[in-house]
Amino acid sequence: MAESDFGPIAAPLFERMTIIGAGLIGSSIIRVAKQRALVREVVVTDHSPAVCDRVRQLKIADHVIEDAAAAVVDSDLVVLCVPVGANADVGQRIAPSLMAGAIVSDVGSVKTAVLDSLSELLPANVHLVPAHPVAGTEYSGPDAGFSTLFCNRWCIVTPPEGANAEAVNRVLEFWRGCGANVETMSAAHHDLVLAITSHVPHLIAYNIVGTAADLEEVTQSEVIKFSAGGFRDFTRIAASDPTMWRDIFLNNKDAVLEMLGRFNEDLAALQRMIRWGDGQGLFDLFTRTRAIRRSIIEQGQETVAPDFGRGGPARS
Ligand code: NAP
Repeated sequence: MAESDFGPIAAPLFERMTIIGAGLIGSSIIRVAKQRALVREVVVTDHSPAVCDRVRQLKIADHVIEDAAAAVVDSDLVVLCVPVGANADVGQRIAPSLMAGAIVSDVGSVKTAVLDSLSELLPANVHLVPAHPVAGTEYSGPDAGFSTLFCNRWCIVTPPEGANAEAVNRVLEFWRGCGANVETMSAAHHDLVLAITSHVPHLIAYNIVGTAADLEEVTQSEVIKFSAGGFRDFTRIAASDPTMWRDIFLNNKDAVLEMLGRFNEDLAALQRMIRWGDGQGLFDLFTRTRAIRRSIIEQGQETVAPDFGRGGPARS
């Protein structure tokens, strides 16, 4: 979908949507849902009174209700946009107030843990359809969101076994309406894929930036001054929200440790190539990795721009 296609859709997909957690992802959903009229009415709730006030000032929602239980009443779509570790607490608070037949979804970057905690808490007469839009920036809060965040990005929907097919289709339709490409898979498979494509890369970035900060022989001002040598690109990732990423690693432990084991083995192999002067081995690996970057660009998930697409999709 081109960004120029971002007009209202024919008819709203939901009557009343409640967004819980109006940060980067929640406020981006609100903006695109309002802009494209994907829902008739938007209710926002957040545990932070300052965030609620900011959403009121920004005038991006129809109603801001500080109490989460009151905010979900009569909503046919409820989307949890809080850090993964907060989902169980939110689920507990909203469960008694959910409308029969409502769809409850989320945007968490980990899916098995979310599914496990929420499916136990929610009443049997609501449909749980978790999702993960694979789109984001290193910024947080209601001011960071923008309506084109999901444009041409993937949204992975992970319905539990036996999920209501109509509810799943409505969630898929909603994300298509947000401009995303959609795919369904099991929560376990999602967690394994994202461990290598997102979670381990973040861990590597946090680690390398931490290592540089602790060096004694190279000063911090040198690290900053000469950062364009590669370090700079890690610092962008390592600037991501600490709460969100703490929760991701605590909730996707097995898959991350599995991928980290493989990563360590491959790093040891690279270390050997350098030690033994295996130039051909290094050259072959770097040629293969270059091809992967080219495929990502060809599939529209990155640009060739020299800023590594740091500006992201056009904001509005
Ligand atoms: P964010 O900008 O920090 O927003 C999260 C919001 O939820 C904040 O306003 C936070 O308030 C609020 N919140 C926290 N605990 C809450 C609770 N118990 N009840 C109600 N509100 C609560 O974070 P985000 O980047 O939008 O991430 C939200 C979710 O999206 C996470 O699960 C993350 O894994 C997922 N996700 C993030 C990205 C990304 O790149 N950022 C991409 C895809 C998916 P306080 O800040 O005051 O605590």
